[in-house]
Amino acid sequence: MDSSTVVGILGGGQLGRMMLEAAHRLNVRCVVVDAPNCPAKQIDGGHDHIDASFRDENAIAELAKKSTVVTTEIEHINTDALESISSTVSVEPSYSTLRCIQDKYLQKQHLQTFHIALPDFCDAPDQAAVENAGQKFGYPFVLKSKTLAYDGRGNYVVRQPQDIPDGIKALGDRPLYVEKFVPFSMEIAVMVVRTLDGKVYAYPTTETIQRDNICHLVYAPARLPHHLQKRAQTLAMDAVRTFKGAGIYGVEMFVLQDGESVLLNEIAPRPHNSGHYTIEACPTSQFEAHIRAITGLPFTEANTHLSTATTHALMVNLLGGEDPCYVSRIAKRSLTIPGATLHLYGKGESRKGRKMGHITIIADSSQECERRYLSLIEEEEKVQV
Ligand code: ATP
Ligand code: MG
Ligand code: MG
Repeated sequence: MDSSTVVGILGGGQLGRMMLEAAHRLNVRCVVVDAPNCPAKQIDGGHDHIDASFRDENAIAELAKKSTVVTTEIEHINTDALESISSTVSVEPSYSTLRCIQDKYLQKQHLQTFHIALPDFCDAPDQAAVENAGQKFGYPFVLKSKTLAYDGRGNYVVRQPQDIPDGIKALGDRPLYVEKFVPFSMEIAVMVVRTLDGKVYAYPTTETIQRDNICHLVYAPARLPHHLQKRAQTLAMDAVRTFKGAGIYGVEMFVLQDGESVLLNEIAPRPHNSGHYTIEACPTSQFEAHIRAITGLPFTEANTHLSTATTHALMVNLLGGEDPCYVSRIAKRSLTIPGATLHLYGKGESRKGRKMGHITIIADSSQECERRYLSLIEEEEKVQV
């Protein structure tokens, strides 16, 4: 590969770490901005990394000097700093895309202007506006923080008018908006790659199962009829086409109870938990796709298909449990499961709910994936499946 290419990455968590794994194989050099022993830096002994917060303006300016293209593993980023470096270095995806997507309300307004199917939503600058939204949409509805939301921490389901003050309080001082509650039958997600010349390619439609608002399991492909899988891929590609900039995007969607309609929930302008299965199950992973897309390396439709020898995958997140040994116990057991690949993120201490790693199980049917998954988990977890 062109040895002058240097990818600057804002954020060195597990997504940055897996980007680096992919970049290494392509001989693409990377520079990471984050804390000294972050997961990404642990696997790259390069001396050029920057020890600073990835939100720090000076660190971003320094990164621009060391990179030929700057990208990010997280959307909650300082987009003003990215805008100022964009005159001297490529920023992919564009700072304007990150700015729009990081504010869920702006993101939804933007998608609405392009006629992308969405749940109904409205602004909620004060309590009266939230009450009006309740009258308009009915109960329950979802009160959402516009900014800094992840793992459902910016959401509050309002079940009755009396809950409104509690909801506003629970979400703190953040700007809020309201979404109509979607009684979905399934949550799904599609990874979409957008190349530098604006072409888009969709990975298979996956089914995502959240536990306590955090992605827990991902089935690839989703257990849906073929035409619905295609419909979701089309919606996801149409949505990503509306944004500027290359890279991988994770598009979360709902399938409604009519079993036909698909609505978009939100977009992540970066690798996404629902795309981890691509490392084992597709010729080109979401991480490699991102590196290829932002550095202008070739990428085609064929890169996104499930490999013929794989056909089905099941990804399970390894979240820290009440028991501090839970993760290491499951991780060790995964090494005995056929078709299972373990990914640990190097995060040290296992805290409850912390994403410590993931395991991808591949097999020739979703039932076989599930059978292997059941032999992996603890007895008491089996009742929840
Ligand atoms: P992420 O970690 O995916 O970034 P987030 O904090 O941005 O999560 P959302 O994706 O908006 O939050 O919502 C989290 C979960 O809450 C969704 O996966 C879905 O299960 C549920 N949810 C979100 N919006 C709605 C809605 N309008 N109606 C019903 N359920 C919803
Ligand atoms: Mg989100
Ligand atoms: Mg989400």
